Order: sequence, then C-alpha cells, then structure tokens
Amino acid sequence: MSKQEVPYKIYLSEDEMPKAWYNLRADMKNKPAPLLNPGTLQPMTVEDLSPVFCEELAKQELDNDTKEIPIPDDIRNFYKMYRPSPLVRAYPLEQKLGTPAKIYYKFEGNNTSGSHKLNSAIAQAYYAKKQGLKGVTTETGAGQWGTALSMACSYMGLDCIVYMVKVSYEQKPFRREVMRTYGAKVTPSPSETTNIGKKILAEHPGTNGSLGCAISEAVEVATSTEGYRYVLGSVLNQVLLHQSVIGLETKAALDKYDIVPDVIIGCAGGGSNLGGLIAPFMGEKLRGEKDYRIVAVEPASCPSFTRGKFAYDFCDTGMVCPLAKMYTLGSDFIPSPNHAGGLRYHGMSTTLSQLYHDGLMDAVSVEQSKVFEAAEEFARIEGILPAPESAHAIAAAMAEAMKCKETGEEKTIVFGLTGTGYFDLVAYQKFNDGEMTDYIPGDDDLAESLAKLPNVDR
Ligand SMILES: *Cc1c(COP(=O)(O)O)cnc(C)c1O
Repeated sequence: MSKQEVPYKIYLSEDEMPKAWYNLRADMKNKPAPLLNPGTLQPMTVEDLSPVFCEELAKQELDNDTKEIPIPDDIRNFYKMYRPSPLVRAYPLEQKLGTPAKIYYKFEGNNTSGSHKLNSAIAQAYYAKKQGLKGVTTETGAGQWGTALSMACSYMGLDCIVYMVKVSYEQKPFRREVMRTYGAKVTPSPSETTNIGKKILAEHPGTNGSLGCAISEAVEVATSTEGYRYVLGSVLNQVLLHQSVIGLETKAALDKYDIVPDVIIGCAGGGSNLGGLIAPFMGEKLRGEKDYRIVAVEPASCPSFTRGKFAYDFCDTGMVCPLAKMYTLGSDFIPSPNHAGGLRYHGMSTTLSQLYHDGLMDAVSVEQSKVFEAAEEFARIEGILPAPESAHAIAAAMAEAMKCKETGEEKTIVFGLTGTGYFDLVAYQKFNDGEMTDYIPGDDDLAESLAKLPNVDR
C-alpha cells in the first residue's frame, strides 16, 4: 500500500467500536499474583473487597478467566460522546525526523478531562449506580483522575468526594474548579474530615500531603459512610480491563489498513493506559499468534520497572489497602520535589509486573528534561500540547524512529498519547525558563525504601 493511502487519522464508526472489553489475564499462563489481605496475608475474596469496592468491580478485579466482558450499553453510549478516539499517522513528525519508520499514535486527550482516565471512570461510576450506591470517594494528585471521575459521576447522578493532595489543591486551582463545576466535593488532604487526616495533621502540622495519605482518607470515608464505595483510577486489574478499549480500537483501526506494528510504546505510571493499549496485541503474543516488541516508559526519577523489586508491597502509605505483588520502589518512596513530569506512583499494575517479569515486555526510563524536549518538538510539529506523562512515550517513540533512521529499517511504531498538558503549564514554564533539572535517585535512596517492604513469604 502506498504511503499516502493511509489517512492522517484513522477513525472507526460507532458500530466498529468494541462491544466487549478484553481481559488479558485470561490468556496469561502465569496469572498476576493475588491481592493479599494485609491482616491475614490470605488472597482477597469478593467478600473481602466488597466493603471497599462495588461488587461488580470486585468481581472484575479477581476474574482471571473470562476473556471478554460485555460493555454495558449505558457505558458504550457514554463512550460514543468522545470515542472512538483517532489513531493518528504522524506524517509531519516522520518527515521532520527524516525517518523511514512509520509512526502512529492513539490520542486519548479529546475529552474535557484531557486523558484516558474517563474510560474507566465511567465504568466505575456505572457499576456504583447500578448497585444503588449514593456516591464514591477517591483521591487525586495532579487531578486528571478526579476530573474524569467527577464528569462520570455527574452523568450517572452520583455524589463524588475527592481528596486532593493539598499541594496540588493549592497549586492547581483550575483543576479543582473543573471538578467542582461537575459537582464534585473536593477536600484538600490531609483534612480534619477523617480520623487518619486528623492524626496526620497532628503529627505533621503544615504537611503538603501525599497521594498515600489522600487514599487513606478516601478509603476511610467510603468504608464508614452508608452507600459509598472507594474507586481508583489506575494500577488495578479492573482499570486495565476498562482501558482495553484503547487497544481494541487501535487494533481495529490498524487492521482496516492491514498495518502490523513492530513496536508498541506507552508511558507507565500505574500501568493502566499501557495495559489497555497493549491488551489485544499482548493477547496475540501470549497465544503464540504474533510477536511484538512492547515497551513501557517511565521517569528516571520514579523507575519502578527498571530499578524496582518484584515483591509484595503496600499500595498506599497508610497501609490500609491490600498488598500487591508488583515492581515497586517501596510504598515510602516519594520522587524528588523537582520531578514535574507525573507518573510518580511507587508501584505498578500486577498484570504488567508479571508480564515484565516473564520477559514479555521491555521497560526504559527517561529523564524529565528529555521528556519535555520531546514534548516541545512534538507540539511544534503535530500541534497537540501533550501531557508530560504522555511525552514519556513520545520521547521513546522518537528515539526508536531515530534508530530506524540509522539502520534504514521501516519499522511501524505505535504509541499511546494519553492526554493533553493544559494543566501542566507550570512544568512547561520551568522547562521554557531553563529551570528544569533532572534527578535520579541513588542506589542507597532506593535501598532505603525497599528495605521497608513487608515480609511476605509467597
Ligand atoms: C494518569 C495518567 C497517566 C498514567 O497513568 P497509567 O495508569 O500508567 O496510565 C498517563 N497519562 C496521563 C495523561 C494521565 O492522566
């Protein structure tokens, strides 16, 4: 097929959108290790998870066997308001780089929340509503997840209680106002509204807060308030399941033009967009039908895959959530304050951790100055202002394309462009002012937080 026959954007019709999510775990020979009850160290059951999560979501979390889970019509109809998302052929970028590689990106930033997180937020809000709940609680750091969830909750008619890390609450007032506009109740964390918040405030007056603390507050409110449950925007198996819509659409679009990718690249914070993007491709790989190189890209300042340990760890700093076996830097690990590029979670999806451990995917880390250089180059030629998180994937895709330039290989590269960066302009400002620095944790920094991993013998 000649080059120009592939359009700039490959769209699917509404009819061609996936009707079921694909559960990658069903095709894994080595299943992800089970979540453990932090008290008994026994695998969590649906009954264990139900006080915290909606029942249907608890079932999805533990379901390692059902390959296809139908997308309920209400969720599909919501998806139709902003999906299918385009698969874009980056002709201008290819030309600028002078590479023989063919570059495609799946753009998930075309909705008000500005990221892929809405794909799971609407599913989680739907199941909460269906169960007859009044509302959900969650935490948010930078605010993408809180925004997505508040949009989903307003659509479904659910209360949305968001604990926002205090420093972000103060530094990102616009994010906060988007959430409030969609009806969410946003509280800076730590707060006086929970026991754990009061305790932390008493021990650390003037603290900026942390994601771990906000999680503990959100879980406390969910488990102590009638008709509320807790929801989470990444890391969990259920979130990867919902995000499989990204990969299924990508594959359907590529199939239309008989395009077979060689390399698939995504940024990895908790692993949800990457897990979703690669799902159908990894499925083919697991079933021995095809082979792809799959690459996770993470920040050099928070390198869970490339320098972490594959072990059971706490998912939060408050140690109230189940233990997960994952690549982790230790639940105490907090990236340096000068890290502006997102993806700051200490752990990683258990599913992706198992796949990485089994040698089925690669991981690389990129320093943030390189990430922002790539973001700027991309914005200037492709027009889209990327989220710093997404720009990790851009940097790796561009590096891969430049390698092709040296070798003359005409590889097909697909990467996930997870969102837009309109709320990250303080970070862009730092970069534009030449004030962005790179920080890479030392081996002893990592050893210190890894030394505190719980002692789980499984
Ligand atoms: C949250 C977020 C990420 C990282 O989360 P994953 O669960 O690893 O996908 C990446 N990009 C954007 C724009 C985000 O909002």
